[in-house]
Amino acid sequence: MTEADDAAAERTPVGRAEDLPCDYCGGGPLVWRKCKLICLQCRQINKSCADL
Ligand SMILES: [Zn+2]
Repeated sequence: MTEADDAAAERTPVGRAEDLPCDYCGGGPLVWRKCKLICLQCRQINKSCADL
């Protein structure tokens, strides 16, 4: 009976954004550049630090 287990479960981080396919071309890879997650294939910005 510990509360630590529940707390840990709630703090499970969202999946790593760079592991997801690009929103625009569905490809990748996605890389973080200057606080922006950029697709190396189509150069679109998928996400920024502010979104996380
Ligand atoms: Zn792309």
